[in-house]
Amino acid sequence: PLKPHPQRNGSERNPGAAPPRLPFSRVTREDLAFFRTLLPGRTITDPDLLKSSNVDWLKTVEGNSEVLLRPKTTEEVSQILRHCNERNLAVCPQGGNTGLVGGSVPVFDEIILSTSLMNQVITFDNISGILTCQAGCVLENLSNYLEERDFIMPLDLGAKGSCHIGGNVSTNAGGLRLLRYGSLRGTVLGLEVVLADGRILNCLATLRKDNTGYDLKQLFIGSEGTLGVITAVSILCPRKPKAVNVAFLGCSSFQQLLETFQCCRGMLGEILSAFEFFDASCMSLLEKHLKLTNPITESPFYIVIETAGSNATHDEEKLHKFLEEVMTSSLVTDGTVATEATKIKALWSLRERVTEALTHEGYTYKYDISLPVEKIYDLVQDMRGHLGDMAKNVVGYGHVGDGNLHLNITSPSKDPALLAAIEPYVYEWTSEWKGSISAEHGLGLKKRNYIYYSKPSEAVALMGSIKAMLDPKGILNPYKTLPDNIH
Ligand code: FAD
Repeated sequence: PLKPHPQRNGSERNPGAAPPRLPFSRVTREDLAFFRTLLPGRTITDPDLLKSSNVDWLKTVEGNSEVLLRPKTTEEVSQILRHCNERNLAVCPQGGNTGLVGGSVPVFDEIILSTSLMNQVITFDNISGILTCQAGCVLENLSNYLEERDFIMPLDLGAKGSCHIGGNVSTNAGGLRLLRYGSLRGTVLGLEVVLADGRILNCLATLRKDNTGYDLKQLFIGSEGTLGVITAVSILCPRKPKAVNVAFLGCSSFQQLLETFQCCRGMLGEILSAFEFFDASCMSLLEKHLKLTNPITESPFYIVIETAGSNATHDEEKLHKFLEEVMTSSLVTDGTVATEATKIKALWSLRERVTEALTHEGYTYKYDISLPVEKIYDLVQDMRGHLGDMAKNVVGYGHVGDGNLHLNITSPSKDPALLAAIEPYVYEWTSEWKGSISAEHGLGLKKRNYIYYSKPSEAVALMGSIKAMLDPKGILNPYKTLPDNIH
């Protein structure tokens, strides 16, 4: 049996629940007058217009903010934060509001600072491939901008049509291309950040190498808007591959899927750009709710493999040799390949839309876990046994290439008894295997008190000291990321 974690923290009954409101000021008429002068027509107080910014994408966290600010420039962000800091007003930075851990919406009446109008490309250097842009650029718009110039973004995710690059950096989003191009910790070269007191920190370097002192930008990558507001990003972009192929395969066991992954790494090597999976339960939900069609025969597991290279003939030859190998050795039961853009998109949408399909099932409990790759599906199977009939669905999908499982458990509506059966069990399981309880989504509101399962208390205390130094009044995302005993 798994033992409870010694440093478990927060309310034992539901550590994910919101803590009481902290003693921040309330927005006054004078504050509104200040914001309206600074942002004419961009200070939103109409409750109808505020509605969608108060609720998260999953519709599981709802705040009660009465003010939404939409700055266009870094200077405006600086003035907003200086004012809020002086007045002790709490602020929730918001990008595309696609975050999955309740980080992007207010918990009480925090002012929402949206980057949606900070959507300009500043420069693009087509020799180095370095793009510099404002934080509110939508990821898909940046991808389209770059594709016209023969480059691509180093990251891609299912939420690309809405998420902002500033939100991506703030959550250190992983996504579908991490296997090939690495994490944003490597590809982001510089950031411009506004600190809680309004100071502008210009670390917007466009250098690949720069070892002058501490690399401060790393502090803001993945800090989920608790240390500063990111206002601009410079990022290294790869050349657009000349040839892209996608293979969609079926496997009869997770062991065979792992062997296919091993074989794939060996045979596709430098052209492999993604290796994703989802299980048969996900496929049923895609068919049921989104009316998507399974292009191959039914299988317990499905794989999406993408290759991206510079020579179409060479890449296709490699891919076909690999497919021949996995088919003849019976690792794979069925498969289809796409080289043409619309078919590639259709195959990718099966994997990308699993998150959306799940939302039609009622309430979804989401877990984003890193584990040794050979263990990732054991957690799904173990959880099925552990929960029995309590859950409507227990499904697994994710980024095999990165050892990242998305474990999702659904019930017709919010169910405290089910939640109590899942948590902390899932975190204890993960900790036992030295995994991470948040591989790529962050901690936000929902996971903050579970941080001790993945980080030692000394590290969490140091995070608290950094927060206290950069945001002494704690106005930035006060109920997020750090556990309640640190704020
Ligand atoms: P938001 O949701 O608005 O905010 C996220 C957090 O960042 C919040 O804490 C917010 O306060 C903070 N923040 C936002 N902008 C700023 C800023 N400029 N400065 C400081 N703080 C800021 N995530 C992955 O990692 N990989 C995936 O493959 C993936 N797939 C997804 C698929 C779907 C369908 C959906 C709905 C979500 C998916 N996500 C994934 C989660 C989500 O899209 C990412 O976390 C994304 O990076 C969030 O960007 P956003 O602009 O929507 O940020």
